[in-house]
Amino acid sequence: MSAAAVSVLPAFPATELPVFGGGVFPVRRVYCVGRNYVDHIREMNEADERDPPFFFQKPRDAVVPDGARVPYPPFTADFQFEVELVIAIGRGGRNVPVAEACDHIFGYAVGIDLTRRDRQRDARDLRLPWEIGKSFDASAPCGAVAPVRDVGMYERGAITLSVNGAERQRGDIGHMIWSVPEVIAQLSRQVTLGGGDLIFTGTPAGVGAVAPGDLIVARIDGLPPLTITITPPEA
Ligand code: MN
Repeated sequence: MSAAAVSVLPAFPATELPVFGGGVFPVRRVYCVGRNYVDHIREMNEADERDPPFFFQKPRDAVVPDGARVPYPPFTADFQFEVELVIAIGRGGRNVPVAEACDHIFGYAVGIDLTRRDRQRDARDLRLPWEIGKSFDASAPCGAVAPVRDVGMYERGAITLSVNGAERQRGDIGHMIWSVPEVIAQLSRQVTLGGGDLIFTGTPAGVGAVAPGDLIVARIDGLPPLTITITPPEA
């Protein structure tokens, strides 16, 4: 090996989100909470509402920004939205105590956990991994990151999603089973958190399917909104 080995492929583009007020937030890893609102657990007919949260990941390059055009993905006939509060980690750590978790937050964003619901249900029924239902191209739209210094800490506030102007989801951040500090503390006991990590914190009730041409607008009080358009499948 020469001292300066040359990459045999072009460099991959970095995944970055705009920061409200200036700058960019570099994305390191993307985690999601599996279930975190009682009303959504009930609509999904899921297990015990007191179960601890579990986490799954999406690939970093699944993150697409506000205004993205998202092609209807292959391998599903039930492509669904889930509006979620996203935590943007500024400082990493392990075994973070709940009382110190807020020190690790850079800011917040509005995200949509796009899901192949049919594949997710297959995974549940067949006891297979969730990945193919959750981790695919453009499956993690995320709006601009609003720094804590501007918006403070998030403990409550309306979270909504509309499709073509009709409201489909409405909840309140205060109804999360596991709060933002508890989510950070729990995840940091399972993996080493790093600056640049995004954590999607789960969705309230009202999830549903979309079709090509649909305009989806996701909002959380005080954060920059997130708008995406579903486009026809890619050839
Ligand atoms: Mn979700």
